[in-house]
Amino acid sequence: MFSFSRIICQRPCCKAVIHGDGKFHSLHGTVSFIKAYCGTLVVTELYGLPSPDGVYAMHIHNGAECTGTESAPFDNVGSHLNPDNTTHPFHMGDLPAVFSNNGYAWSAVYTDRFYPAQVIGHTVIIHISPDDYRTQPSGNSGEKIACGEIR
Ligand SMILES: [Zn+2]
Repeated sequence: MFSFSRIICQRPCCKAVIHGDGKFHSLHGTVSFIKAYCGTLVVTELYGLPSPDGVYAMHIHNGAECTGTESAPFDNVGSHLNPDNTTHPFHMGDLPAVFSNNGYAWSAVYTDRFYPAQVIGHTVIIHISPDDYRTQPSGNSGEKIACGEIR
């Protein structure tokens, strides 16, 4: 399998193993965080996205665990990671959306909003809708369909 970390010869500092909720149980993948330049390279690989050409918001949330209630399985992740108390989409945890390619997505994005060590112990959430990058507090990106704990 293709491994980005082998190409740049550096292990990811930390990683979230993504799994879907009950309705989206085939959705899975990884989000890796690699220290690069003055920030982080975020490498995302997802399988089993619900729509062949969907666009899905992705954020780092404040909570530590992918837990919740039966009707909202990832509710305990709370709000977007936002230690600087800014507005959306300027939260530390705001990221570009993920594009489905027949259910598969791979992306790499650089951000200087955080170093990998700053997101350990938080969570990555994939939402059912794209982020509009305007609506407060979370871009109107809808239901949380998948989650991963950054470890
Ligand atoms: Zn946000």
